[in-house]
Amino acid sequence: MRDFEFCGDLTPEQTDLKYIWHPCSQMKDYEELAPIVIDHAKGVWLYDIHGKKYLDIVSSWWANLLGHSNEIISRAISEQLRRMEHVIFANFTHAPAIQLACELAKIVPPQIKKFHFNDNGSAAVECALKMCFQFYLQTGKPRKQRFFCLTDGYHGETIGALAVGSMDLYTKIYQPMMMETIPVQAPDCYRCPFGKLRGCCQCECFQAAEKAFAEHASECAAIILEPLLQGSAGMRVYPALYLKKMRALCDAYDVKLIVDEIATGFGRTGKMFACDHAGISPDVMCLSKGLTGGYLPMSVTCVTQEIYDAFYADYNEGKAFLHSHTYAGNPLGCAAALAVQKILREEPVIETANKNAVWLTQELEQAFETHPHVGEIRHIGLIHAIELVKDPKTKEPFDSRKRLGYAIYKRALSRGLLLRPLGNVLYFNPPLNITREELQTAINIARQSVREVLG
Ligand code: PMP
Repeated sequence: MRDFEFCGDLTPEQTDLKYIWHPCSQMKDYEELAPIVIDHAKGVWLYDIHGKKYLDIVSSWWANLLGHSNEIISRAISEQLRRMEHVIFANFTHAPAIQLACELAKIVPPQIKKFHFNDNGSAAVECALKMCFQFYLQTGKPRKQRFFCLTDGYHGETIGALAVGSMDLYTKIYQPMMMETIPVQAPDCYRCPFGKLRGCCQCECFQAAEKAFAEHASECAAIILEPLLQGSAGMRVYPALYLKKMRALCDAYDVKLIVDEIATGFGRTGKMFACDHAGISPDVMCLSKGLTGGYLPMSVTCVTQEIYDAFYADYNEGKAFLHSHTYAGNPLGCAAALAVQKILREEPVIETANKNAVWLTQELEQAFETHPHVGEIRHIGLIHAIELVKDPKTKEPFDSRKRLGYAIYKRALSRGLLLRPLGNVLYFNPPLNITREELQTAINIARQSVREVLG
């Protein structure tokens, strides 16, 4: 175990709280439940400094794709580290980035031809927005300056990315700082306003998009959406048909389609990309998280040749895309991403995850379906979510101020499961190579924790 001498008389937990402001946290909560100091991790397991282990069923913010301390990925990073840690990516380049671009070109939808590197998901989204805006400015349609976005969407937390997200929890306070977008009512298959059942519809809800486009497309550069899975909204899954229709609508109105595959990419939905379920090719695609297996911060904004060409001119025409992050194209991140691609190419990771997903659906249904507060169990790929409601008949949600999800989180944690509900939605989004035995452990702890909190 690591030496914590620097903590003096304080415990590591107390020292953490003395100095650190944690992300997405009300720090006062830490008075009751101190941060867990993780010493090391292997596969789906996190080990704390007191010898307790936790099953990471949320892939550490959905990033860890193939388990912690994976030997192939770790080795690739350390080998790269011995050659070069980082180099400026303007006017310079390196083998890992070139090779990664070649590998990505083989797996992305066919119209995607160019790759712009950044260092986190929000930055990839910022780039996507700026690129679409500038595309129309430079192709004779300068009025197309605004963006459509789906209600309850989430695309990150920098100001631009926040503006195209619509979850009040994250955006409301900052509204005066943000550009105004045009919201399109998102599909909500659990509470379908058309009274349809999941999987048995023609996406009647798509009317909302058609109406918004008819009114505003002439002033809009793009629509941004999370394809098939609105993750932060509570793992809301919607049909591929919606995405197909959106591609056609964007073509009809000359609006670019930005798909945010930051959470859904690299097998999370059962195919390499969520777009593949719909057989569509977007104009812009944002990738991060699983890209490096969750080992290093990196993202890529992928675009069509058409978009790229609108920026290609003599320097003095001022058409270049002048967006740079210091760590863009970091060689260590590229090395990690190449190792991930090698594993996905050589091992049947996605196929096995899909088989386990079928099994997991059955097990979760058996374990939870009869619980009086389970509203819906939904899934895509290995991602499974259980929405807890006050009354399944009316689908009335629990009062969010009761923080039932947080209570369940604490129970699960005490039993060794890192289950981090989104409001009152419990979900599993584990590394794709989790075993059935590990999944069973997670199911058992989740069930016990729900029973303790809700009876
Ligand atoms: N888009 C989606 C769909 C995400 O899930 C996230 C992160 N949860 C982001 C964007 C933002 O990525 P980052 O946290 O790396 O900025």
